[in-house]
Amino acid sequence: IGGKLKAVGEIGAGNAEAMGSRILVFVRLRPMSRKEKEDGSKSCVKIVNKKDVYLTELASENDYLRLKRVRGRHFCFDASFPDSTMQAEVYSTSTADLVEGVLQGRNGTVFCYGATGAGKTYTMLGTMENPGVMVLAIKDLFLKVRQRSHDGSHSIQLSYLEVYNETVRDLLSPGRPLLVREDKQKGNVAAGLTQYRAYSTDEVMKLLQQGNQNRTTEPTRVNETSSRSHAILQVVVEYRYMDGASVVTRVGKLSLIDLAGSERALATDQRSQRSLEGANINRSLLALSSCINALVEGKQHVPYRNSKLTQLLKDSLGGSCNTVMIANISPSNLSFGETQNTLHWADRAKEIKTKAVTAGNEEIFKASDSDNEQAKLVLELQKE
Ligand code: ADP
Ligand code: MG
Repeated sequence: IGGKLKAVGEIGAGNAEAMGSRILVFVRLRPMSRKEKEDGSKSCVKIVNKKDVYLTELASENDYLRLKRVRGRHFCFDASFPDSTMQAEVYSTSTADLVEGVLQGRNGTVFCYGATGAGKTYTMLGTMENPGVMVLAIKDLFLKVRQRSHDGSHSIQLSYLEVYNETVRDLLSPGRPLLVREDKQKGNVAAGLTQYRAYSTDEVMKLLQQGNQNRTTEPTRVNETSSRSHAILQVVVEYRYMDGASVVTRVGKLSLIDLAGSERALATDQRSQRSLEGANINRSLLALSSCINALVEGKQHVPYRNSKLTQLLKDSLGGSCNTVMIANISPSNLSFGETQNTLHWADRAKEIKTKAVTAGNEEIFKASDSDNEQAKLVLELQKE
């Protein structure tokens, strides 16, 4: 992992050498559930050296060695987390450097991808006792901001939204669906979305748990959140500081995304467009795959407009954004097909190139520019 962390560091540093970095892809295996054990599951996944993932329905050590030579059954990621991995390690290996980048004004995005029940929500939100990436990232942000508070002022704003059936909803203030609008400065935004100003980690965990309760549930299974709902937490960090007579505003956005279950999109992937519509499959997830394919192939046109999810993530995917993918998998041989699909998808995602440079997120306003709204801030800050 030592070598890996260095690679993340290079991206985080955003220096010239980091140009053309690719997105980082991690795999997390969850423990076998009680239900899977009762159903007589056997483990079909083995993780070696926190990197290699072997997928097999066989179980002896020799089989794993043999599989290394079989294409499609051996995968290698930036890091692979065995089922004993703690939340803190997943956070520090996958996301901590992105948080540092956001403070420098670079957008960062973390996706959890995988079938329903594979551990996406556990990884992202977690529980009170074992908080996940969303909560640990915000905790880390608070800590880092406090350490730097002497040289400027920071504000941290959260919004938490859901994309379900191509409808965008505010999870912090449920109500009518929101429209996605294009904003010249902020990119595509959900109009009227609650921007919650956050001050402490405890309050954030409660807020997110409440938000998750507001996620759409399947009509037939009211206690479970729908496997077709994507939850997006956006954390916007604004940092203002004086540079001589100018006030510099630096904005970084961190998007943490608990994607819908990948099983249906994959199951219907090969059907015709017509039957895709008929089956009302997850358009946003398919659109995300198309955007990833376009980014992998270095195409000029990336079809962000095809779904609500990709519209919202336009400035948070590829390009100048630091992107991390966490693929969640179950160890059970009963989920073999889904696990294989997830690993293939993750393997493909490794090829996306990103440019780690600060992209127009910094604006400098001169104090003399008296017409400018922002210039007033200079004067305010100078008074402080
Ligand atoms: P998903 O969001 O992908 O549908 P969940 O995160 O809800 O899946 O996980 C399914 C179940 O497995 C939950 O009960 C969750 O608490 C448990 N689980 C998932 N990952 C882990 C893990 N790494 N350690 C312990 N329990 C886990
Ligand atoms: Mg979930």
